[in-house]
Amino acid sequence: MPNTPEQRTHLILENYIGGKFVSCPSHIDSYDPSTGEVYCKVPDSGKDEVDAAVSAAKEAFPGWSSRSPEQRAQVLNKLADLMEANLEDFAQAESRDQGKTLTFARTVDIPRAVYNFRFFASSVVHHTTDCSQMDHMGCVNYTIRCPVGVAGLISPWNLPLYLLTWKIAPAVAAGNTVVAKPSEMTSVTAWMMCKLMHEAGVPPGVINIVFGTGPRAGDALVGHPDVPLVSFTGSTATAQRITERSAPYCKKLSLELGGKNPAVVFADADLEQCIATTVRSSFSNQGEICLCTSRIYVERSIYPEFLERFVAAARKWKTGSPSDPGNNNGALISKEHLEKVRSFVKLARSEGGTVHCGEGIDRLDLPERNASGYFMAATVISGIPDSSRVMQEEIFGPVTCIRPFDTEDEAVSRANSVRYGLAATVWSRDVGKVHRVAKRLQAGLVWTNCWLVRDLNLPFGGMKSSGVGREGGKDSYHFFTEVKTITIKY
Ligand code: NAD
Repeated sequence: MPNTPEQRTHLILENYIGGKFVSCPSHIDSYDPSTGEVYCKVPDSGKDEVDAAVSAAKEAFPGWSSRSPEQRAQVLNKLADLMEANLEDFAQAESRDQGKTLTFARTVDIPRAVYNFRFFASSVVHHTTDCSQMDHMGCVNYTIRCPVGVAGLISPWNLPLYLLTWKIAPAVAAGNTVVAKPSEMTSVTAWMMCKLMHEAGVPPGVINIVFGTGPRAGDALVGHPDVPLVSFTGSTATAQRITERSAPYCKKLSLELGGKNPAVVFADADLEQCIATTVRSSFSNQGEICLCTSRIYVERSIYPEFLERFVAAARKWKTGSPSDPGNNNGALISKEHLEKVRSFVKLARSEGGTVHCGEGIDRLDLPERNASGYFMAATVISGIPDSSRVMQEEIFGPVTCIRPFDTEDEAVSRANSVRYGLAATVWSRDVGKVHRVAKRLQAGLVWTNCWLVRDLNLPFGGMKSSGVGREGGKDSYHFFTEVKTITIKY
């Protein structure tokens, strides 16, 4: 039973190591973004906690990796069932911890976290390896794939459980054991998931979760000599530090990073569908999705109509209390992040851009309890040159910029004129144009006439500064295993 006033008012999380909850001597404050109040204390883990988790994972590896894929799949499916049975509790917690709407958590985050376990449980039993005959040499060659050992998994705050399970599920399905570190800003649903591990039959040490900051817990995990592979999703700046830190050990790295995603809208697009989807792709989850559209290039002949209709639709994108089902957006993750996003709008104004709606124009009508929350309305900007920081840097908030273009070549080259290469959308009814442009865009994912339609079998990831490697069905399996070529002379 909690006894101090602080324990009564705050949720206090513990690390999950070797199948047990383990308390940590110090904690970090975690805020409810919709009220601006501290409501949770997250372990401020460091080297000692990470060492204990890696030891537990190392000890569990021989047993877990020698189970058959079917046996591992059974455990993952059970964990998925338990999470699904508690979906509403997870959704409420995710919404409170991250600021996103309850509707989004209920329909996107948690169902996808459940599906991540089911998907990798099913796919792991279907992988095959290669075989090649060399009759003239009297040889046959074949490959086998083996789990690597203890995987270090680090995830961000925007889609907390969704992205954490996107790593845990393939890693353990392939036979590795893991030490995962969620973002210190959104740790609650990972902790809730730990409570289900025992009932799901996850053996102690197979899934360990250590909470804390990047510079302490994250750094200790990346730098641990017994962690041979690291899967990281987060910012490009952090990925650079992780790459440097892991270089002396030649670790296997998968890096899923930031984006500055363009939409290219041709004059023959179905404008109604395009505008509805591009409003969604620009502002969903407060614009805090790495795949969100942040630059919209529109063919000049339809530019005035597009701009007017897009701004009108953006104004209908409602922001407010995350628990109100009438709202499309809730609060941004933190005060600092809100200030950063706002600073880009200020910069756009100072560079002569036009802000059509949102920040500084539309007043938000917030309930009293949300008065100190980190809210910002959907904001549309035009008239900013491509060279501006507003058009070059990842904003990661509910802000999108619209610019006209004249030719297909120009649209492609301007869409490619940033350091990132994660996702893009193309809007046209001309099949030839869609194929040509999709091929030339520098992006790991190109959606034509749609957005965020995902088949988890196919590769996910970015090029340029948006990442290294791909994750998804076969790609995740390849990342979380080492391949070996065996030659037999007969
Ligand atoms: P971040 O890089 O600040 O943090 C991500 C994670 O890394 C957190 O868990 C953090 O604690 C940890 N971390 C920070 N410093 C570390 C260090 N030195 N060593 C080890 N770990 C460290 O990113 P964020 O602000 O949490 O997330 C937003 C970013 O994530 C955006 O850039 C967004 O585009 C990107 N993102 C990318 C994808 C994708 O799939 N490509 C998906 C979601 C988010």
